[in-house]
Amino acid sequence: MTKKIAVLSGDGIGPEIIGEALRLLHAVAEKHALQIETEEALVGGIAYDETGHPLPPETLALCKASDAVLLGAVGGPKWDNVQPASLRPEVGALLPLRKELGLFANLRPVTLFPALADASSLKNELIKDGLDILVVRELTGGIYFGQPKERTSERAVDTCVYTRPEIERIARVGFEAAQKRGKRLCSVDKANVLETSRLWREVVMKIALDYPDVELSHLLVDNCAMQLVKNPSQFDVIVTENMFGDILSDEAAMLTGSLGMLPSASLGATSGTGAKTAFGLYEPIHGSAPDIAGKGVANPLATFLSVALLLRYSLDAEAAAQTIEAAVGKVLESGLRTGDIASPGQRTVGSREMSDAVLQAL
Ligand code: NAD
Repeated sequence: MTKKIAVLSGDGIGPEIIGEALRLLHAVAEKHALQIETEEALVGGIAYDETGHPLPPETLALCKASDAVLLGAVGGPKWDNVQPASLRPEVGALLPLRKELGLFANLRPVTLFPALADASSLKNELIKDGLDILVVRELTGGIYFGQPKERTSERAVDTCVYTRPEIERIARVGFEAAQKRGKRLCSVDKANVLETSRLWREVVMKIALDYPDVELSHLLVDNCAMQLVKNPSQFDVIVTENMFGDILSDEAAMLTGSLGMLPSASLGATSGTGAKTAFGLYEPIHGSAPDIAGKGVANPLATFLSVALLLRYSLDAEAAAQTIEAAVGKVLESGLRTGDIASPGQRTVGSREMSDAVLQAL
């Protein structure tokens, strides 16, 4: 059956990296005999300019009618002062997309390719065995969404709320991801202080009974933040709530030292149910990089690795996903570098040359 992929390039370097990613996607689909169909739609600042809204109804309808969404990046200085603020690209497009598509699980693989070990800010001995962590962050609950939210000139209130079903479903995503990897899950909370964390821990321990092959551990969030820089290779999969995940996933990402290398997946309703595929939105974690937009120098690899996640989680095409990951590794081993991942004095290539090399390595 043909799988439909909605493609939203967005702003800044978005169209450049998505253009390269589509060449890759079609080449991999052909190689692995996958039937896919892609359809592009407007999102972000460009959508605002053309339609008056950063997430036009047709774009949302296309996403809902698709099996997966591939997103570039949105935003840029041109739209920083759009009024009302709810129409700014990040607020008016990204948050509603997550909400409307029910994307409750954010998966951020943090992989350090051995060829890029020097880009990490950590001492070489800490990462000599490589780094391969998956951070699973709850995306639609917790303190970012809890009500009431109130503010007077002297007092402000944010409310952190989690319900049992919300914790159960994200815990299952974490356990299922661990089953497919190193079979170790670390649940991160602040159970010594927060009621929501105490419920979180209780529920995670109960769900663990369904996954006896996965070794579960618990860490307080402050300790986890320390352990990530002290001994990152101890982690396999980390599952945590929204705000802790927001902070820890950025901390973990920076262990690799290269923003242009990191993909992400945000998964919806069928994830964590044992189903083979889940609806998902896939995007690089970096932004629209307005400072280099239009120059043809953006690193397309984070988007390529996002395509690999799309194939893995939404198309059940593990072999195709691994083909991309292996090709990216091979090209890095060969010494090819875009500017953002090059060492001083190293020759650099543009997006097209990097992308040609990956296609060649397939
Ligand atoms: P950014 O990630 O766009 O850029 C940070 C730095 O990293 C810049 O110097 C940029 O040139 C570089 N960089 C980023 N991606 C790169 C790539 N693929 N190749 C080479 N270099 C790369 O973050 P920013 O500058 O803080 O934000 C720029 C805009 O992007 C803002 O409007 C911001 O709101 C938006 N943004 C969007 C998303 C998203 O769409 N999901 C995420 C983050 C930021």
